[in-house]
Amino acid sequence: MRLPFSKPYRAFAEFDGMSDAECRMYVDRAFIHRPWLTSRVPLVLGLAMLVAWPLLVLGVMEFVPGVHDVVPLPRSADGKAIFLVITTVLVAVAVPLLVRDLGIYLGLKDEVHRARCRKCRQSLLGVPIQTIGADPDPAKQFIRCPECGRKFVLMELGLTPRDLVPFEQRGVPSDFGKKRPDSTWRR
Ligand SMILES: [Zn+2]
Repeated sequence: MRLPFSKPYRAFAEFDGMSDAECRMYVDRAFIHRPWLTSRVPLVLGLAMLVAWPLLVLGVMEFVPGVHDVVPLPRSADGKAIFLVITTVLVAVAVPLLVRDLGIYLGLKDEVHRARCRKCRQSLLGVPIQTIGADPDPAKQFIRCPECGRKFVLMELGLTPRDLVPFEQRGVPSDFGKKRPDSTWRR
């Protein structure tokens, strides 16, 4: 498993062919689809750590005999105060960031596997869309699960036709919109 720190999407081989800008769009979607793990829980945890961490450290310093022999903790009152402030800030920042990253990771995993049958969890990637009439109305676009045969309205699944394209094929070619040097019309 890869452990990227600034670009969580690089943990997924499915995102390899995509630009950072496009990947960030999926990170944004992860924030929208998993608001608890990506924003609310980290915020609450950060605030809780501001109270819980100093209490824990003070408790350990006061009531655990022999802790000073194992961990080099300051003994003077000033030293204890500085140690408490620094570690509290570090913990109150680091813990929420770790939880948020976990939320982003799980959210990206959802995005990669979003196109699944609601009934049997079969992947719907690459399954052709059936449309009623020539009208491109999303409410008239259907998809039939190749495994269980259940028919879904695409809109009800919260999917767009693009979601049914395998991730590796969703990227835009690097020469998109540019003049191709050896195009046939010149000859
Ligand atoms: Zn199914």
